[in-house]
Parts: sequence; structure tokens; C-alpha cells
Amino acid sequence: MKVLVKGAGVAGLTAAFEFAARGAAVTVAETRPALGGNASWFAGGMLAPWCERESAEQPVLDLGRDAADWWDAATPGLVARRGTLVLAAPRDAGELDRFASRTTGYRRVEEDEIALLEPDLAGRFRRGLLFAAEGHLDPRQTMAALHDKLAATGVEFHFGADAQHVFGCDRQIDCTGMAAQNDWLRGVRGEMLTLRTPDISLSRPVRLLHPRFPLYAVPRTDHRFMIGATMIESQSGGPVTARSMMELLGTAYALHPAFGEAEIVETGVGVRPAFPDNLPRVETNGEIIAINGLYRHGFLARQAADLVFSQDRTKELAHETDGQRRSA
Ligand SMILES: Cc1cc2nc3c(=O)[nH]c(=O)nc-3n(C[C@H](O)[C@H](O)[C@H](O)COP(=O)(O)OP(=O)(O)OC[C@H]3O[C@@H](n4cnc5c(N)ncnc54)[C@H](O)[C@@H]3O)c2cc1C
Repeated sequence: MKVLVKGAGVAGLTAAFEFAARGAAVTVAETRPALGGNASWFAGGMLAPWCERESAEQPVLDLGRDAADWWDAATPGLVARRGTLVLAAPRDAGELDRFASRTTGYRRVEEDEIALLEPDLAGRFRRGLLFAAEGHLDPRQTMAALHDKLAATGVEFHFGADAQHVFGCDRQIDCTGMAAQNDWLRGVRGEMLTLRTPDISLSRPVRLLHPRFPLYAVPRTDHRFMIGATMIESQSGGPVTARSMMELLGTAYALHPAFGEAEIVETGVGVRPAFPDNLPRVETNGEIIAINGLYRHGFLARQAADLVFSQDRTKELAHETDGQRRSA
């Protein structure tokens, strides 16, 4: 079977991976000139379904709990499994209790253990929650690795391509995010910064709860930290606003004052594609399968790719591709 995947964000790449793994001949068409620049590129890369359950429905946890395993198998060595640390300033202790009451999969940690987990935060926070089973990855590194792996196994990539010009496929998988034609889809703008400072080291994503400006810091290599992210009901992909910048920097400073001296090495904006219930959908219309609405959870990979094969209609596709592989 020949499959055309439209879009090389995380939905498209993971769908390409699942179809190729089942023996389909896969072509990926992406309108951008190269990998990146989309919502997936600006993501934190947190594999945090237990934390996300604070504001998400149960399917996000059910579908996301194996995400770290999925990425480990697809891109070995790029997933860090050190959990997520959730903190709040003493005056916001109520936020921590509220977060705990809405989630599972954590244990409470006190000041001493916080200092052991993250020595640079020693003495700054009295209480926290450790979600030990969670992980994180660098979206750019991981997407590049997945692209290279797919290309090496024969998946064709056409960047800067209008997918209409790629002919001769049996199925189209529409993974075009916010560009998809779907009246139910809305955009949730996410602004982020990358800060660099040699004065702070973190081993895992740290979420700082705050009644108005919750924030997370995700460690990258080279003393860089992805600081995110705003949640604004808007489809605008325009530059980060001064107000958002102040909020992100202010909360980073509250996490650790050394962020005040950090270099701002990047600002970025991604628009999260979301349906009204904030849950992902796989919709089939003739030969076109659309995967969309990944909202805050694009890297909880089962939602994007495996989900296709968990639908009755598309189980048939797996059999078709398996059958073709056997007869190839
Ligand atoms: C700041 C921020 C932080 C986030 N943090 C996390 C996180 O920590 N963990 C997590 O799991 N999720 C996170 N997310 C959410 C996640 O990034 C999204 O759910 C995910 O990126 C959506 O992926 P997508 O592939 O559907 O869309 P996109 O990444 O936007 O990809 C769609 C692609 O389709 C292409 N396209 C459009 N039209 C066409 C066409 N006609 N033909 C071919 N190609 C086309 C576009 O150019 C684009 O490359 C975050 C999002 C943001 C913005």
C-alpha cells in the first residue's frame, strides 16, 4: 500500500513511522522548506501524562502513559526518564494541594529531597510533588532522529512540496495541524523562550505552580532551558508579546534568580491544534485519515500514530499493509 502523509510535525512523523513499520510505502509531503518551524518544534517535549491529567481528561493519561516507551523504541537513547518535579512557592502551597488532588502517580517530597533531586533548587521550596514515571525529550533532536531513521528505511520526504503534486497513493494521512480544513479546530497559542545560563543545572522538567502564571522549565543540553509556555486562545503565530515575555521571565526568575542573568537565546511561538474537548481525533473520510487536535499532548505519541491503528476502520489498514509485507 502507498501512503501519503501530509505534514512533518510530530503527528506526521509518528504516523509515517507506524505505517512504514507495517510495511506501507510512505511518502511525507511538508509545505515548509525543512523540518521544523511548526508547533512540534517549539514544544517542551515533556512526556507528562500524569501531570497533564490536572487539566486533561482520562484518555490523555490512558493514551500517554506508554509515550516514553514508544519514543525509546523509535529513537533509542533520546528520552530522559527522571520524572517531573512540581513545586510552588510557600505562599502558593494551596496550588500544590489543588494539583495533587487532581492527579495521581506522584509522591510528595519535602525540602531535603528536593535538594537531593535538584541541588540548585536547595532551600528555595519546602514542598513538592515528584511524578517519577514521567520523562522528557528534546523535540528537535528527536524529530530529526525520527526523520533520519525514516529516510534511511526508504520513506520519501518532499519538503517545500504541495502535497497535491505527490500522486499515486492509496491513502492520505492528513497531519497538517492548524492548516487542516476542520471547522471544529481552534488554535491555542503557546509562547516559549530558551534561556542559557551556566549557573543553574536541572535534571528534569520542573513545573512551578502559580495561580496566574504557571510555568515549566525543561532542561536541554549546553546549559539551555526551554521556558514555557503561554496558553492563549488565539491562532496567531506572531512574535512573542512583551507581556508574555515579562510573565515567562518573571516566573523563571521566581524559580531561580540566576535566570535573571541568563541569555535569551530564542523566543518562539507554536499554535496548538485543539478540538472543543481538547482530545485528539482520528477521522476517516474515504481514503483520507486525519489525525489532529493533539493540543498540549503531541508527544504522547500513541495519540497520534498508534491511535490510527486502534480504530476499527484502520485495523483493516494494518492487515492490508501486513499482508503486502508478507507477500513482498
Ligand atoms: C509552546 C508549546 C509547548 C508544548 N509542549 C508540549 C510538551 O511538552 N509535550 C507535548 O506532548 N506536547 C507539547 N506541545 C503540544 C505539541 O507541540 C502539539 O500537540 C503538536 O506539535 C501538534 O503536532 P502536529 O503534527 O499536529 O502539528 P504541527 O507540528 O503544527 O505540524 C503540522 C505540519 O503540517 C504542515 N502542513 C500544513 N499544511 C500542509 C499541507 N497542505 N501539506 C503538507 N504539509 C502541511 C505544517 O507546515 C506543519 O509542519 C506544546 C506546544 C507548544 C506550542
